[in-house]
Amino acid sequence: MNAPVTGILNIEQIREQFPVLHQQVNGKPLVYFDNAATSQKPLSVINALVDYYKGYNANIHRGIHTLAEKATKAFEDTRHSAKAFINASSEQEIIFVRGVTEAINLVASTYGRAFIKAGDEIIISGLEHHSNIVPWQMLCEEKQAILKVIPVLENGELDLDAFKKLLSSKTKIVSVNHASNSLGTINPIKEIIDAAHDIGAVVVIDGAQAGAHLEIDVQELNSDFYCLSAHKMYGPTGAGILYGKKELLEKMPPYQGGGEMIKEVTFEKTTYNDLPYKFEAGTPNIADVVALNFAIQFINQLGKENIGAYEHELLTYATEKVSALKGVKLIGTAKSKVSVLSFAVDGIHPFDIGQMLDARGVAVRTGHHCTQPLMDHFGIEGTVRASFAVYNTKQEIDSLVEGLDRIINFMS
Ligand code: PMP
Repeated sequence: MNAPVTGILNIEQIREQFPVLHQQVNGKPLVYFDNAATSQKPLSVINALVDYYKGYNANIHRGIHTLAEKATKAFEDTRHSAKAFINASSEQEIIFVRGVTEAINLVASTYGRAFIKAGDEIIISGLEHHSNIVPWQMLCEEKQAILKVIPVLENGELDLDAFKKLLSSKTKIVSVNHASNSLGTINPIKEIIDAAHDIGAVVVIDGAQAGAHLEIDVQELNSDFYCLSAHKMYGPTGAGILYGKKELLEKMPPYQGGGEMIKEVTFEKTTYNDLPYKFEAGTPNIADVVALNFAIQFINQLGKENIGAYEHELLTYATEKVSALKGVKLIGTAKSKVSVLSFAVDGIHPFDIGQMLDARGVAVRTGHHCTQPLMDHFGIEGTVRASFAVYNTKQEIDSLVEGLDRIINFMS
């Protein structure tokens, strides 16, 4: 495929770094538009995994032999890069987890269990992924706390006036996403954080859909917690980052007990390790954390600003073309969006569209996208979602549009 050179990014060169893109699916060139579920991985990330297992697989932190030292250094190098990536003030604030799901569960079951009492209120939004709903529901159930929900406006933006009315001295935690996986809405998280801080609540940001697309500066945001999944930012599955302010992490009890998270163990009493290791019990996912460093380098080399500008161009192009098709209704038309295009087509089930597009080599996601309450809000079962990454092209969007056009004409 002749991919263009757009702006200062050479998309053809970028595509060459992704072996998975160069295949036929059902006899057609693969068009991968399921990036919000998981992005593809560049060779540098794939090679990092192979190099680790081939060259220096060893358990980290306690070993004094050469391989253990090499593995420990590679693991801790990722912490160093992650700190810079989100501008944390210390590496002690970077905790490696499996992904956003585990990060939110960690905060709910440590900070939440320690500090939430009966009658306290936790605010989430109507745009949240199940992983930013269920852990808080579980906590509320356990503590007899109350879950409140920021309403969503018709265009998929949050109702900020309603949010401010929900805030009170009872509000202890506000947990919202930076960007919505179902609609693409970019939330005004700085404003949300400031308003929550004014009444003394702590804020958790689910950054799953921001990591590969938006600038993240946790100090400027003044976010208390910020969660990332490596696999949504060109990195491997099974690795993620929980950022937490040091003073909060210090006063939270540990998440899991075991090796690594201890200073000293006797049968009478255990003292816990310093940050960040207090929250990293057991052998971590060494290989995937090592490879995450290469995903961060990949994004840094292209530049988030360049990635964002190019993806915005793709989104604008796709929005124009798809919304012009017969019977298409866009779901989520916020002013500020990451590169997610969600839509419904009159009289055709999203699942059927997904299957027929797959037959043409086009991979999209269909269904509720783990946001059932949001789908209920719009009175729909689900949407068709095309989500774009930096290696996608306008020609690929043309394939989507052509496929959709044929499906719509065939089915109506
Ligand atoms: N939040 C959002 C907004 C997401 O898109 C996702 C993944 N679809 C998650 C949380 C959960 O991330 P993970 O599955 O990597 O834990």
